[in-house]
Amino acid sequence: MKNIAVIGSGTMGNGIAHVFALNNFNVNLIDIKQEALDKALATITKNLDRQVQKGIITEEQKTHCLSNLTLMTSLQSGISNADLVVEAATENQEIKFQIFRDMDKYAPAHAILASNTSSISITKIASVTSRPEKVIGMHFMNPVPVMKLVEVINGFKTSKEVTDTIIKMSSGLGKVPTLVNDYPGFVANRILMPMINEAIISLHEGVSGVTEIDTVMKLGMAHPMGPLQLADFIGLDVCFAILNVLYEGFGNPKYAPCPLLVNMVTAGDLGVKSGRGFYDYSLGTKEQVVSPNFSK
Ligand code: NAD
Repeated sequence: MKNIAVIGSGTMGNGIAHVFALNNFNVNLIDIKQEALDKALATITKNLDRQVQKGIITEEQKTHCLSNLTLMTSLQSGISNADLVVEAATENQEIKFQIFRDMDKYAPAHAILASNTSSISITKIASVTSRPEKVIGMHFMNPVPVMKLVEVINGFKTSKEVTDTIIKMSSGLGKVPTLVNDYPGFVANRILMPMINEAIISLHEGVSGVTEIDTVMKLGMAHPMGPLQLADFIGLDVCFAILNVLYEGFGNPKYAPCPLLVNMVTAGDLGVKSGRGFYDYSLGTKEQVVSPNFSK
């Protein structure tokens, strides 16, 4: 494996491309939006600078990493020589189905097709391709250059050879791969999202405020980040999409997204990526959003 294509250059795609390029793979980072690619390159450069400052990598490794990266808007040419394609586009089933149909059409026959989806069934995604045995979930955590876990999700038809290859490759990237089966939300989000949703419900019902809820979970449960801040980092649209997959997948109302989350996503308050969520990021500092709704 030498040539990697990453599809989608948002919050996750830029981190995945960063990690592969730093580990000497040739990486094509693909997005439909040129501005998303521009933003991704700026983010990768900033994160590499931070790694150099902390002594994690050298200036030469940074330069080499950037030279391993090619940014492009054409999926067809971007994946034509890929050994592995990692899809990290928007968490939407129809978008992913179309991307996987294209991946199946344009990637070489030997290529493994992986999805970084947080919750959408790998078996369903694989079913739109002619090679379900080569489709697998490779669920990196945010921020990818820092977080060690890769949740490796076996679809119903994923071959053992493909699973073994992805586990070995994830270890080679310095990550800790953990194998799970294909059920709604897998393991990570089946446990994380109900907690985040409950934090939003507590806020919505006026049990407490943003800072207070996050402080309880940070100091009381030793979480490095409170659930509302974490939701902002994940993206509130992504949280909403995952909760809907859990809600529909299990048919259980306990997973229904909180109405406050629905309103925030509808209004475009998506967290860090839009500059505003439970906190305000527009000034480059973390200021709490003050809204009368939050104290009702
Ligand atoms: P994002 O909204 O930050 O970025 C998605 C990117 O995909 C955008 O730049 C968009 O332009 C691009 N895109 C959309 N359609 C495309 C297409 N047809 N071809 C190429 N690019 C396309 O989303 P994200 O947070 O990076 O999430 C990406 C995936 O990773 C989702 O499946 C999500 O569930 C998963 N994930 C997210 C997190 C997180 O913390 N945000 C963590 C783990 C996994």
